[in-house]
Amino acid sequence: MIQTPYYLIDKASLLNNLEKIAYVRQQSGAKSLLALKCFATWSVFDLMQDYMDGTTSSSLYEVKLGKQKFQGETHAYSVAYADNEIAEVLEHSDKIIFNSIGQLERFNEVSSDKTRGLRVNPQVSTSEFLIADPARPFSRLGEWDPEKIATVMDQVSGFMFHNNCENGDFDRFDEMLTLIESRFGHLIKQVEWVSLGGGIHFTGEGYPLDRFCQRLKAFADNYQIQVYLEPGEAAITNSTTLEVTVLDTLYNGKDLAVVDSSIEAHMLDLLIYRENAKMAPNDGSHAYMVCGKSCLAGDIFGEFMFEKPLQVGDRLSFQDAAGYTMVKKNWFNGVKMPSIAIRQLDGSIELVREFDYNDFMNNLS
Ligand SMILES: *Cc1c(COP(=O)(O)O)cnc(C)c1O
Repeated sequence: MIQTPYYLIDKASLLNNLEKIAYVRQQSGAKSLLALKCFATWSVFDLMQDYMDGTTSSSLYEVKLGKQKFQGETHAYSVAYADNEIAEVLEHSDKIIFNSIGQLERFNEVSSDKTRGLRVNPQVSTSEFLIADPARPFSRLGEWDPEKIATVMDQVSGFMFHNNCENGDFDRFDEMLTLIESRFGHLIKQVEWVSLGGGIHFTGEGYPLDRFCQRLKAFADNYQIQVYLEPGEAAITNSTTLEVTVLDTLYNGKDLAVVDSSIEAHMLDLLIYRENAKMAPNDGSHAYMVCGKSCLAGDIFGEFMFEKPLQVGDRLSFQDAAGYTMVKKNWFNGVKMPSIAIRQLDGSIELVREFDYNDFMNNLS
């Protein structure tokens, strides 16, 4: 048995999402690029690259990883590039998308033989969290003024709009795309490609995939463009668990269980958005608050229902632990970093990475 804590990626569950992504390409013509900021565990890229068209990135290191580990197209994007990294970014990408006209002009000369795009902010989004809302007031994410954008049309051949956020509502997606068309349609007519970014939950249960494909195809046909999607969460949703072991139980007015993991160190995104972890199974009659082993008082994964009273040594499984989770793991409190294991399509489980004291030590100096 593999020593906990570890992330367990299930390739069969991953495949479930990937088949929907491939279906969208087949039906709509839209290409899908994996957003590495959400998920960068390259040990499963061998499977993912057969169903997706490449990767997109938010930094030099991500673009390099995409180029090295994932076949197909490699898009470069970053909120801002530094002078000392732009050459390497260009070397490792097929397209570069600048976040602002300022960046486009700064790197105009060095990137002149490259396929270039500009991020456009349509000033509308589906985010319920201000911290994650690209259309928040005074947002730095993209240019929003059509008149200003019109002045640089000779320098770009595409646009990127990223304004959906965990949006599982097709009608809302459709409505926002219509709004984008009404505000920027005359500019979209002048480009060859448009990326609609990520945040569209089209691999979710019950999502109207065919209507989605029709809408994407109509958009592409109408403007004669290649459409791209940049799924992060949608590509890996429900594919991965975080496997942990109970180290202690306490009763302090509530039944508590302490596990060999930490929400701050191993599922940080949940803490940022003040959400609970998901546990399965979670329908017994014994309630426990499951807590991490860091010294943060609020290191709490959530309250869950178990079939039997928990005991030291019991194994628990947090669900949906891939997106924005593995990429954010950290060494807070020196808690042992979860290993990475993969359940292959034949059911066998392979341990692909372990972290030890040297990784902890070498993370600082
Ligand atoms: C975050 C991000 C994505 C991926 O978003 P998901 O919600 O994980 O699908 C794609 N494109 C851009 C530009 C992003 O910032």
